[in-house]
Amino acid sequence: MTDILEITDLEVTYQRSILALHGVNLRVAKGQITSLLGANGAGKSTTLRAISGFIGLDNARVNAGRVRFLGEDITGLQLPRTIHKGIVLVPERDKVFTNLTVAENLEVVATSREEGSKWQQIEEEIFVYFPRLAKLRNKPAGLLSGGERQMLAIGGALVCRPQLLLIDELSLGLAPVIVDEIIERLREVHAKTELSMLLVEQSAAVAFALASYGFVLENGKVELEGATEDLRSNQKVLDLYLGTG
Ligand code: ATP
Repeated sequence: MTDILEITDLEVTYQRSILALHGVNLRVAKGQITSLLGANGAGKSTTLRAISGFIGLDNARVNAGRVRFLGEDITGLQLPRTIHKGIVLVPERDKVFTNLTVAENLEVVATSREEGSKWQQIEEEIFVYFPRLAKLRNKPAGLLSGGERQMLAIGGALVCRPQLLLIDELSLGLAPVIVDEIIERLREVHAKTELSMLLVEQSAAVAFALASYGFVLENGKVELEGATEDLRSNQKVLDLYLGTG
């Protein structure tokens, strides 16, 4: 299986001295959903920042190692060039434009991506993936629930036509019922498009519901990796992330 993303021996420091990643190795297979599990402070967000081009914007620096995307070395590549390559991080759900409607939020992204002319087709695609957003299309985003905003944030990322979709903690702070709905919608997106995804999660239940392969990050290093069915029965994962310890 080809890898769309390959990270080797990645070391990232903050403010020149705080070592956040200590040589991370991970891969995302093309067309697959991969999870990255880890507790608070394990380095999940730093890894995502390094992939999505936020590095250098917040005193973070790649000290060593490589990030390859579709075989090309993109180590240290910054926004918006990462987006042009097809690497798109779902924005935080609170960053939607609250005074614009759902449709306008999606349209702003499409227009900024010079996809404006194809806007109607793109809008319909997003609304097919997220029927709930279709019903809310004329509602200001500020009036949406947290889960609906999360769907809008994912929809906005999909407008960018990603080749690799990065999702940070999609379930954090949301009610289980809406998390289940988002998982179901993402499954459908994946079934239709085979979009490669990297899902960063503190919740093993969410990670395992979507991903076929996973990595477990601890103190800035990958401690464990494997197929989801193997991780599910791994004693360490059971103890740390599924609350059976
Ligand atoms: P969380 O789920 O709490 O966000 P995480 O797994 O995403 O955790 P990171 O946010 O990547 O972990 O943090 C990894 C390490 O880097 C931590 O020790 C953290 O304190 C440190 N760190 C993160 N951001 C910064 C920053 N802007 N400046 C200094 N240190 C930072």
